[in-house]
Amino acid sequence: MKNRVPLVAGNWKMFKTCPEAVESARQLVQRISDATGVEVMIAPPFTALAPVSDALNESNISLGAQNLFWEKEGAYTGEISPVMLVSAGCRYVIIGHSERRQYFGENDGTVNKKIKAALDASLTPILCIGESENERESDKTFSVLDKQIKNGLKDLVLKDLELMILAYEPVWAIGTGKTATSDQAQEVHQFLRSLLKKYFGTTFSQLIRILYGGSVKPDNISELMAMPDVDGALVGGASLDPDTFSKIVHHIGSSL
Ligand code: PEP
Repeated sequence: MKNRVPLVAGNWKMFKTCPEAVESARQLVQRISDATGVEVMIAPPFTALAPVSDALNESNISLGAQNLFWEKEGAYTGEISPVMLVSAGCRYVIIGHSERRQYFGENDGTVNKKIKAALDASLTPILCIGESENERESDKTFSVLDKQIKNGLKDLVLKDLELMILAYEPVWAIGTGKTATSDQAQEVHQFLRSLLKKYFGTTFSQLIRILYGGSVKPDNISELMAMPDVDGALVGGASLDPDTFSKIVHHIGSSL
């Protein structure tokens, strides 16, 4: 029996206008109101954060952002600061998603600054890490993940990390329909927990939630959740439809 409350997080990426996002949020509130024993978060695009925050008011769903910039304010055209996210109602922020690393030049150094800025603003960072197909095939999965953790969490100490959540998202499984098998996910999650034990101690390694992400659907979530080190899911495509996403949430709730 796991003593970590599972989290299911929906990453809406660059989908949904404001009215569409609000409508989806309203539908989710209705469908998920009875879910217990599981935390739920949705991360709409920046433009929809404030109206979705209103739609989630007094529900059991939290709001998250998909990115932030590390400065508090300034001449940084197009960027959004941690305090702006807090003022829009966010509690969580996704950091270092592989699409940001792949298309927007993010790396472990920028990820590290973003994690620190999020923690400074009392936002819960969901740090995304994962290997590419090439790296897996050349047996580099563990060394790649070790580097992403070591550099992404550089200079952070235990007391900073209370809020941290980790998401293992193999790049080859994101949006591809190829899910890691539950054994593959468990093998990596166990490895990540052992790394965190080495860097931050046993207590932290047992408390931190490690989510799996990569083509999670209602029909594969229960198998993944049955693994002892999988504490929930970061869901992309399947989070866009309130009906599908609420099925994932209910499967997680009922698998406890
Ligand atoms: C993601 O974007 O984090 C993700 C896991 O996407 P998908 O569920 O579509 O693979």
